[in-house]
Amino acid sequence: MKIIMLGAPGAGKGTQAKKIADKYQIPHVSTGDIFRANIKNGTELGKKAKTYMDAGQLVPDELTVDLLMDRISQADCANGYVLDGFPRTIPQAECLEKALSGRNDAVDFAINVEVPDENIVARMSGRRACPACGATYHIVHIPTKVEGICDRCGGELALRDDDKPETVKNRLSVYHTQTKPLIQFYGDKKVLHEVDGTQEMEKVFADIVKVLGE
Ligand code: ADP
Ligand code: ADP
Ligand code: ZN
Repeated sequence: MKIIMLGAPGAGKGTQAKKIADKYQIPHVSTGDIFRANIKNGTELGKKAKTYMDAGQLVPDELTVDLLMDRISQADCANGYVLDGFPRTIPQAECLEKALSGRNDAVDFAINVEVPDENIVARMSGRRACPACGATYHIVHIPTKVEGICDRCGGELALRDDDKPETVKNRLSVYHTQTKPLIQFYGDKKVLHEVDGTQEMEKVFADIVKVLGE
């Protein structure tokens, strides 16, 4: 099962992708998480990516596509994966399509988690992430048991550098111009499914399970 998550920054792609990965036993592949791991480890790629990420811009396709292709050619991806944050541009989607069709393969589901712009800034300003294990919370909607501490691993939660309101505005405009055309792209391929991302997290997931099957 090869699944793509579409949606604005903060729509809940990562939250839902983690639940999909658990239920269907496939890897959750997040390009954002891979870039953040590179930044944390001080790699050359991380240094290059950080300047774009901090500005709310996309990392150039040249740096992103090979990285993703490498990741999905690893053994654990043989039975499928859920991609979160890739593709984000039409050229990225075309590269993925070309790589898959070379193996007689294609994306099975593109799930668009629909959340209007008005809700996004509040989602992002309340987002807290655990740098140690990658878990994501929300101070109001998905709180931890102890404030500021990860339920899963006890790590100290942090705000993401790019979740400041000014940067969020840039990311939203980048989303509208560069990423939103993917909805049409996957619609044309007849694999697009829309879910209402403004619902409570478990309800959104139930709608996704209806699409993917039990
Ligand atoms: P969000 O979860 O808010 O949508 P991500 O963690 O997916 O954000 O991505 C954070 C940042 O990493 C993006 O704003 C962008 O700079 C960079 N990034 C992640 N994936 C891609 C991609 N496929 N192409 C280009 N840049 C990307
Ligand atoms: P994305 O990966 O699309 O950027 P996230 O999954 O990181 O989005 O979610 C953004 C923020 O919104 C996080 O703080 C997350 O805990 C919260 N969130 C996710 N799903 C919901 C939901 N259905 N209702 C309210 N808040 C949510
Ligand atoms: Zn943790």
